[in-house]
Amino acid sequence: MTTTLVWFRSDLRLADNPALHDAVRRGDKVIPVFIWAPEEAGAWVPGGASRWWLHHSLFALDATLRGHGSRLILRRGPSRVALEELITETGATRVVWNRCYQPLALERDREIGTALQDQGIEWASFNANLLVEPWQVRTRTGAPYRVFTPFWRACRELGWEERPLPTVGECAPVSPNIDSLDLGAFGLLPKVAWDSGLRVNWQVGEQAALERLQEFCDDAFVDYAGARDYPSRPGTSRLSPHLHFGEISPRQIAWALMHAAHTSRVAGAVAAAEAYVRELGWREFAHHVLFHYPHTTDAPMDPRFADFPWRADAEEMLCAWQRGRTGYPIVDAGMRELWQTGWMHNRVRMITASFLTKNARLSWHRGASWFWDTLVDADLANNSLGWQWVAGCGADAAPYFRIFNPILQSKKFDAAGAYIRRWLPELDALPDRWIHAPWEAPTTVQAEAKVVVGRDYPAPVLDLKATRDESLAVYRTHLQAVANA
Ligand SMILES: Cc1cc2nc3c(=O)[nH]c(=O)nc-3n(C[C@H](O)[C@H](O)[C@H](O)COP(=O)(O)OP(=O)(O)OC[C@H]3O[C@@H](n4cnc5c(N)ncnc54)[C@H](O)[C@@H]3O)c2cc1C
Repeated sequence: MTTTLVWFRSDLRLADNPALHDAVRRGDKVIPVFIWAPEEAGAWVPGGASRWWLHHSLFALDATLRGHGSRLILRRGPSRVALEELITETGATRVVWNRCYQPLALERDREIGTALQDQGIEWASFNANLLVEPWQVRTRTGAPYRVFTPFWRACRELGWEERPLPTVGECAPVSPNIDSLDLGAFGLLPKVAWDSGLRVNWQVGEQAALERLQEFCDDAFVDYAGARDYPSRPGTSRLSPHLHFGEISPRQIAWALMHAAHTSRVAGAVAAAEAYVRELGWREFAHHVLFHYPHTTDAPMDPRFADFPWRADAEEMLCAWQRGRTGYPIVDAGMRELWQTGWMHNRVRMITASFLTKNARLSWHRGASWFWDTLVDADLANNSLGWQWVAGCGADAAPYFRIFNPILQSKKFDAAGAYIRRWLPELDALPDRWIHAPWEAPTTVQAEAKVVVGRDYPAPVLDLKATRDESLAVYRTHLQAVANA
């Protein structure tokens, strides 16, 4: 019987897992392994919130595997050395994995594939994490896509007909002679316990992901298009960390939603499911861009922004933004939601990112780094695309003159201030009329609400109109200079 190492990476699940499914279907003796090798991620080593999630996800995966008669072998990187050691220890003749698309992971996997082949070890890789892989769609001229709408149209035309694979059945037990590190040895959990907010807000693992999906299919998806922009409503799926760690696949989600839509009696259910799947399309697009333009993790996609004069002297501003102390409630509520829960609503991600890049004129890279460290769904493809989109320097980006006004956004998408009050309890007693711009409230109102601006809540750290005008002038001058060069 062939012994096969199933190398788990961003696919921490048993259902719709083609690499695992392939090994089990062939009747191989399966050895599931996860290798912790943060050095292989280069500058984008998983941040604190991601490590927290990974710890719990590995714990859950091991428990699920044990329920299937197997267990997860944990090893420390380098990945190639760890795999070769395991091959020697177990007599494995085959290694399988599901593909990752981050530039350094791709390079590493190519090298490992070549090394295995040289040693006479068979290997195979599979698509588990995308509906359409980055090389499957091209423009008419054969180039990669840079604009979302035609990209998504091409993906739809190509289709993703295959059904998700079922969860695997019983696996052969892994010999007790094969050593596994203790999960604690990876040091993923924080030494100082800052994670209480994460613990109360998230259930981690494949089972939790499936339950979240079921809940979303049962309750929320029919209102998705209307509710997804309102941060106080449970209008989005919150599946992003589960997707990032591969506890669930986009194909499972798309299939479940389309099924729920076609069996629903609610008018517009199919349109709602399609609106949702289109958002999964943005995830696909982000991976397409990252694969074809790997430099975009650190440099702008649009070369005109390579030397853009971002402000370098604004540490205090950055700090105020990170701590949710800018004096703009919708921005501060978002940043505090992020700090406390490891997640932020998409609408507020756009508002906070616009504030940092367009009003404070700090580089998108500094914002992306903070998100990277604090988001439980921190994802190189989605984060780079999201930040560059807002900053105006990415693929299919918002034009430079689109600057979100946080007060207008707040009035439109959080009219009664429910979201603001949840994350900024010090503003709770302010009447709705003043909640979006507390410094405008008369002193009597501030006193009555027990929130004196400048004492109990910060005064605005910048002037919206002045910074907007300045920013527009800098963008315009810079782009003009590049055009004339
Ligand atoms: C500045 C900025 C940074 C971002 N950083 C990340 C990140 O690190 N990781 C991340 O997963 N998403 C990121 N996003 C995209 C988006 O905000 C999140 O995917 C979304 O808020 C996750 O919540 P949800 O699962 O409830 O989304 P839903 O609305 O339920 O959407 C379902 C899924 O579609 C995908 N999706 C939705 N919107 C986008 C989008 N704009 N771009 C790419 N994929 C999308 C996600 O995988 C999401 O889980 C970022 C957006 C911005 C503006």
